[in-house]
Amino acid sequence: MKISDLIVSGVPSVSFEVFPPKTSDRFESVASAVEKIAALKPNFMSVTYGAGGGTSEYTLDLAEKIREQYGVESLAHLTCVSSSKETVRERIAAIKNAGIENVMALRGDLTPELEKTDRSTWAYAHATELIADIKELAPDMCVGAACYPEVHPESENQKDDIFYLKKKVEAGADFFTTQMFFDNSLLYNFLYKIREAGITVPVVAGVMPITSAGQVERAIKLSGSFMPRRFVSLVDAFGPNPAAMKQAGIVYAADQIIDLFANGVNNVHVYTMNKPDVAAGILSLVREML
Ligand code: FAD
Repeated sequence: MKISDLIVSGVPSVSFEVFPPKTSDRFESVASAVEKIAALKPNFMSVTYGAGGGTSEYTLDLAEKIREQYGVESLAHLTCVSSSKETVRERIAAIKNAGIENVMALRGDLTPELEKTDRSTWAYAHATELIADIKELAPDMCVGAACYPEVHPESENQKDDIFYLKKKVEAGADFFTTQMFFDNSLLYNFLYKIREAGITVPVVAGVMPITSAGQVERAIKLSGSFMPRRFVSLVDAFGPNPAAMKQAGIVYAADQIIDLFANGVNNVHVYTMNKPDVAAGILSLVREML
């Protein structure tokens, strides 16, 4: 089923993101964690993709398992940075053959490793081009794309960022999922601005539960997200106690989700980091609202 049909306006839902293993010997243990997360029956599950294609097979294998064996609709991520047109054609054919109906079309981060590769073989500069190619190669595919309530780190300003979001919709994006954010008012402000700009496709809010002090720095580095004072105090107080930090992180994420639902942002995607207990903990705090 298409994600665009699953994220029904006015109906609260929670979906989960998982990531594939880097090596085959880790596949079974990741699949086992993913099965436990799928058993919680989220609205759908997405599987990330290593930019540059490192985990490409495992992304598809996991997305197929989620759909066929665990009975949850899946969304396979695909990045285009450093890819050739031929690689993208092959990946789309493989996704279609696996019976997957949903693709998250991303550029991927320009990592230092990728920067060292031969750019003359790169066929894509931005996700917009990938979205257009997917829609041409697989017109029935439901295509998601990324958006950034706090502006993408490479953008000069929010106006430019929103201009290019519009281009993603024109290229065929059916919905957006946001980068993580820790202050809901930033999302509400962003939603107001994109609706003003005429972007009407559904937006799924991405929520990242921070369950260990070590995760904080990584999350900020990855997303550039603003950490509200309330969140910083929580990490300061409970960071040294892993069990307390985990509980506080679960409650903070659930609190964000409850506020989103209360303000009409009904579709929330939780970055579970392959942790079934975190996914279950959050769901137990919002279950009655679904
Ligand atoms: P783009 O849309 O290309 O945007 C990148 C920058 O270029 C922005 O500043 C944008 O404003 C600008 N821009 C966009 N279009 C144009 C244009 N046509 N002309 C000029 N400028 C333009 N990374 C992974 O490697 N694997 C994943 O599975 C993954 N999943 C993600 C899921 C979500 C929900 C999010 C939010 C991010 C994810 N990422 C993933 C990270 C993502 O790859 C990075 O944030 C990357 O830096 C940008 O990807 P993008 O698709 O938004 O790129």
